Amino acid sequence: MAKYPVTRTTTPKERPDENNLGFGKKFTDHMFLMNYTEGQGWHDGRIVPYAPFELDPACMVFHYAQEIFEGMKAYRTADGTVQLFRPVENARRINASGERMCIPPIPEEDFVDAVKELVAVDEDWVPHAPGTSLYIRPFIIASDVALGVHASKTYIFCVICSPSGSYYAGGMSPVKIYVENDDVRAVRGGTGFTKCGGNYAGSIRAAEKAEKAGYSQVLWLDGVERKYIEEVGAMNVMFKIGGKVVTPALNGTVLPGITRKSCIELIRSWGIEVEERLLSAKELFDAAESGLLEEAWGTGTAAVVSPIGEMKWNDREVVVNGGQIGQITQKLYDELTGIQWGRVEDTRGWIVKV
Ligand SMILES: *Cc1c(COP(=O)(O)O)cnc(C)c1O
Repeated sequence: MAKYPVTRTTTPKERPDENNLGFGKKFTDHMFLMNYTEGQGWHDGRIVPYAPFELDPACMVFHYAQEIFEGMKAYRTADGTVQLFRPVENARRINASGERMCIPPIPEEDFVDAVKELVAVDEDWVPHAPGTSLYIRPFIIASDVALGVHASKTYIFCVICSPSGSYYAGGMSPVKIYVENDDVRAVRGGTGFTKCGGNYAGSIRAAEKAEKAGYSQVLWLDGVERKYIEEVGAMNVMFKIGGKVVTPALNGTVLPGITRKSCIELIRSWGIEVEERLLSAKELFDAAESGLLEEAWGTGTAAVVSPIGEMKWNDREVVVNGGQIGQITQKLYDELTGIQWGRVEDTRGWIVKV
């Protein structure tokens, strides 16, 4: 039994060419909406035709960025069914983001049902071509019409979906990254562990600078000492150093990635030690120069894993694994994408069928 009522579009859009989807440019026929009103809680969850919002210009989200979001995907398996990867983790994380941003929690089951029922309504938008998926973007915005910095008393929860092309259409290839010394992404006590819009607005300048210099991502340092590695672009980061995997600990400034968590579980199950700890740029570049750094990669829903082939920090430039994809990097990619697209058996209860 569906939990939420559906109003179907009377003007379905033309389906995009599956071989030319790109990322985040096309949107499906429907969206999920639910409202929050203080004293009443979350109410009126519904699936409606995809359409623009009409919002008062004094809406709080426009001024103080009280906003949080999630990113997840629906995958089509060889037998045509559609499935999600660890959606309860996204429900928990949006509520953890909400707690920091004074946004009221959504019951985990209601969040997951909203996603499942929306994807079911737009099921034929889940692409079939290898490596393609339906990217899902749940988000919550503060909708009180008022200036003055305080928590909104009303919110809108919305979920939109975007059919997306294969991240590695041209094959997985290692990227060049650049250690950013000036701009920082997060500080302890701030909002680094949340997916709140403001974190990303503040990251654009460094990303543009890196891109102009010929690098595809920024390697972020901690906001206090600018000494310790935190993340790469909007991905978590992992390194294989002297036989062990090292990744920055979740100390409040690092986004707790679901891909990160899944990679750690897989690597440990393969009998390889994983250390979650402080890792300075100096330790990392010294390891690279002494030959101890074996592999480096980013992790996130969009790319799954992204191998790192070159790194630059001030005047130090290092090549990782001869610029080739590392063994653990490839194994993680094969295992995770195998589970997500249903080619590898899910023995951990990570898959939820739509
Ligand atoms: C979303 C995100 C990640 C990756 O999280 P996943 O759950 O693995 O997609 C990592 N870092 C930042 C800053 C992010 O926004």
